[in-house]
Amino acid sequence: MADPDCIFCKIIAGELPARIVDEDEHTIAFMDIAPATRGHALVIPRTHSVDLTDVSGADLQAVAVAAQRLAGRMRARLGADGINLLNACGPAAWQTVFHFHVHVIPRYDGDPLRLPWVPSAGDPDEIALAAQELARP
Ligand code: AMP
Ligand code: ZN
Repeated sequence: MADPDCIFCKIIAGELPARIVDEDEHTIAFMDIAPATRGHALVIPRTHSVDLTDVSGADLQAVAVAAQRLAGRMRARLGADGINLLNACGPAAWQTVFHFHVHVIPRYDGDPLRLPWVPSAGDPDEIALAAQELARP
């Protein structure tokens, strides 16, 4: 259930402090200590899993619903103009804490956050090849 070396499991156990903003049977949500914007929170399942490929479907659903709940509060109570959900799966994708979590990041008109890539048209053949791999049963 819990990983003794995991800081998020320690938050769930009450062994590390956290500013908890939402809880249910399967999830807790707390403020990120290094917020990207005002109100940046993290939603985690109570049961330890490492990342998106490891988390159970039931926990993933519960985290998504909790993130939606928080997003609504961010609009209503913090005056957020938008919300980004972000999950980092693996170090290559910037994951630094290996207990599955979803960032819920309120966005404000004119805030300084930017997309981490520059959108530009891709090579259609390469897109089709990747699609073939992904669609293969
Ligand atoms: P990621 O890089 O996607 O794995 O996100 C990990 C997030 O956890 C970062 O945004 C950190 O600022 C945040 N974080 C790390 N330790 C704590 C903590 N003790 N309490 C709250 N947030 C934390
Ligand atoms: Zn954990």
